[in-house]
Amino acid sequence: MEYQAKELFAKRDVPVTLGVVLRHAEDARTAAEALGRRVVVKAQVRTGGRGKAGGVKLAADPDEAVEMAGQILGMDINGHTVHQVLVAPAADIAEEYYLSFLVDRADRTFLCIASVEGGVEIEEVARANPGAIAKVAIDPRSGVDEAKAAEIVAAAGFPATIAAEAVDVVLNLWRVFVAEDASLVEVNPLVRLGDGHLEALDGKITVDANADFRHPDRARFQDAVAADPLEEAAKTKHLSYVKLGGEVGIIGNGAGLVMSTLDVVAYAGEKYDGVKPANFLDIGGGASAEVMANGLQIVLGDPLVKAVFVNVFGGITACDAVANGIVDALQMLGEGANRPLVVRLDGNNVTEGRRILEAAGHPLVTMVDTMDDAADRAAELAAKG
Ligand code: GDP
Ligand code: MN
Repeated sequence: MEYQAKELFAKRDVPVTLGVVLRHAEDARTAAEALGRRVVVKAQVRTGGRGKAGGVKLAADPDEAVEMAGQILGMDINGHTVHQVLVAPAADIAEEYYLSFLVDRADRTFLCIASVEGGVEIEEVARANPGAIAKVAIDPRSGVDEAKAAEIVAAAGFPATIAAEAVDVVLNLWRVFVAEDASLVEVNPLVRLGDGHLEALDGKITVDANADFRHPDRARFQDAVAADPLEEAAKTKHLSYVKLGGEVGIIGNGAGLVMSTLDVVAYAGEKYDGVKPANFLDIGGGASAEVMANGLQIVLGDPLVKAVFVNVFGGITACDAVANGIVDALQMLGEGANRPLVVRLDGNNVTEGRRILEAAGHPLVTMVDTMDDAADRAAELAAKG
């Protein structure tokens, strides 16, 4: 979350204002009083686009800070409920820039992206004005030194008056990237304040979980995060579930298959009001009735889900076992299974698997033979709501 990213920025001298994080609107009064000036109240959720969604609001006085905090707390932003807000002094913004470091998989190196067109989504800038984005590859052997930082600042076209300070910000942000074993550090916007100084007004850090053992202090971020209750529930059931915020629930076996299922559903969804996959859920190899029931329960626990696509390729666990799993799971869930299911079975023992589902004749289940057609059907059902 932004406030956590800012803590890590502060440790390496990337300029930020930390502010106060709170869970109850009334606490915004004390925070705003202590700051003694105009404040900004910002939703703390692990998703971008908060500004657009109304999750970033300015407040002129403590009363208004309480009012704004009250409006933002409990808000849903891209499927994330706001449990915490950050209250910080309102910045006097002269200009908004963009700065990030990330792993560039295509070029197998690190990449710095910088632009004087910050504040809006960088993807939007890339579409509308690609020339405004500087991309500078970073050789991992040498990293970012003073000269490299100066090259980045020049490539981005940061104004001369702030060039020296921008070099420091670039160097320090690179230190964050390295020290935190991050795959992304992003500042959007990096602002030039009215007084001419730079400040990171927002922050996003994606860390490489493979390096968790080197960062025992990270656990506190995990605890502080209002973890998604469905993700928590999935964890206790040993299912790898990631909520994505769309309308088509996804269940599949094998991470690769589930990833491609997300792609085909997103593609099919373009035809149907732009419905999107609601989640990633890999039920793994042994798709027993219990695992299937757990999976369905988690996916259907998401109120945004309007239809579910079960995409299973029978391997060691053959299709007949999976089909029995689905039938038994639906029985276990009873009334809980209350949205249409599109099932695509293929692979080992597919004929028997399809026969079993056919024979069960569950009113919510539609069987579709191919992955593309099934994705299409699921997207269509989800769009109908
Ligand atoms: P995001 O929408 O989730 O990326 O949230 P940001 O933290 O980037 O805020 C979105 C936008 O709100 C920024 O680009 C700024 O234009 C504006 N904003 C954020 N904080 C402040 C502030 O302290 N003062 C002012 N005037 N605007 C702010
Ligand atoms: Mn931002």
